[in-house]
Amino acid sequence: MANEDQPKPASEERDSVQNVNWNDFRDHLSTADKEGHRVWLYPRKPRGRYYLARLWVSFGLIAVMFAGPFIHINGNPLLMINLPERRFSILGVIFWPQDNLIFAFGFLLFLTGIAVFTAAFGRLWCGWTCPQTVMMEMVFRRIEYWIEGDAPAQRALDRAPWSARKIFQKLAKHGLFLGLSFVIGNTLLAYIIGSDALLKIIRDNPASHLTGLTFMGLFTLLFYGIFARFREQACTFICPYGRFQSTLLDENTIVVAYDYKRGEKRGPLRRSQTAAERKTSGAGDCVDCHQCVAVCPTGIDIRNGTQMECVNCTACIDACDNVMTKIGRPRGLIRFASLNGIEKGERLRVTPRLIGYCTVLLLLGLGLVTLLLTRSDVDTALLRAPGGLFQTSPDGRISNLYLLKLTNKTHHDMPVELKLENIDGTLSVFGGQAVVPGEQQIESSVLVEIAPDQLASGNTPLVVGVYSGGKRLDTVKTIFIGPRR
Ligand code: SF4
Ligand code: SF4
Repeated sequence: MANEDQPKPASEERDSVQNVNWNDFRDHLSTADKEGHRVWLYPRKPRGRYYLARLWVSFGLIAVMFAGPFIHINGNPLLMINLPERRFSILGVIFWPQDNLIFAFGFLLFLTGIAVFTAAFGRLWCGWTCPQTVMMEMVFRRIEYWIEGDAPAQRALDRAPWSARKIFQKLAKHGLFLGLSFVIGNTLLAYIIGSDALLKIIRDNPASHLTGLTFMGLFTLLFYGIFARFREQACTFICPYGRFQSTLLDENTIVVAYDYKRGEKRGPLRRSQTAAERKTSGAGDCVDCHQCVAVCPTGIDIRNGTQMECVNCTACIDACDNVMTKIGRPRGLIRFASLNGIEKGERLRVTPRLIGYCTVLLLLGLGLVTLLLTRSDVDTALLRAPGGLFQTSPDGRISNLYLLKLTNKTHHDMPVELKLENIDGTLSVFGGQAVVPGEQQIESSVLVEIAPDQLASGNTPLVVGVYSGGKRLDTVKTIFIGPRR
């Protein structure tokens, strides 16, 4: 009897691994060959109304993306996610980690928004607005077309032996890619640390900013790697949104779809064959020219149906529309449509699932607006100093030491006063009255002294009011430790 645990011979192992149906698109990746090596894609340059519209949308988005950290509202960046200082600027308003509820609502709103949008319109975000696709298709790919030509010329160049022309073209392309990656890397750094800190790194002595310069280098290499080599694999392998989209789509979702009812049975167009003759012969409108496949940046054939790799970039719509126009057939063999739209001619239907998503979206939106409108001007943290219990002063009063952290969420400097609310005693902030600069945090120490007859045995709850200009802005609760009786 054969031992099941024994390792299989290498040849048998290879057979079982390679036992795939290469004619079935579901059985293999379009970007991997039978040996498992990557198949480099050479998508043809799309031309058409959707490509033109995407170009303008992309230019707008790129302008916002690069200007984002440098545009200031009320002295704060339009968008900044300053992780080292845990300071976030959204539309010029500074948020702190203390605003965690606002972040939680905002994040849930974002996720639900994506779910609603995907359930209704598929991965339109990916093809039209995702920074990865926008930069890849509208900047890096266009540079490639400009320097190396369209897909056939690129393929020929890669196969050609090295020559002075090839070296020049490759150097020019990769030099530009590297330069652009440097700009993108610096922009990302500006989003993280702020544009002022980035400019300081650029202007100052490099030796004083080794960490910043290291990140500049790492980000540059990361983006160069993504746009020069990794490319569509970021969408098909890495992006989590692409992986879970299949759980959000249904037969009513509008996606880039091939009208198989109109297109099949596909077959080449014979010379001098009229549309009527073609129809009589049982052939559909698809002339099997593969133009839709040739332009696809993820290398798929949309005629196989909606696939995980499709980023809804609409390049195949343009390619097919051009073919249809040439052969005198109506455009839209590939178009934005739902499965029900193609099968039954239905328009976008508002399904109970969509209503459910929208209700959750609305509730979260209302919650977020309420939180933003009721956001306090100051945030106070008052914690007992670590290690200390209590001290008894010569007059017999008991004292506790606290650490105070005050966050001013307004744009202006704010003098702040702290008062004991529930007990008689004295509260002193070290260094006198605290003045918190606009949109900044300060830390200080606070000493609270209370007569023993005011205290309970052991722990006494303490309520501290935070005032500015006589108006109470915040209240914090803590514990005062005294002797046990
Ligand atoms: S471009 Fe249109 S006609 Fe050509 S293969 Fe694709 S679907 Fe068929
Ligand atoms: S199938 Fe069409 S829409 Fe989808 S990624 Fe390819 S070209 Fe873009």
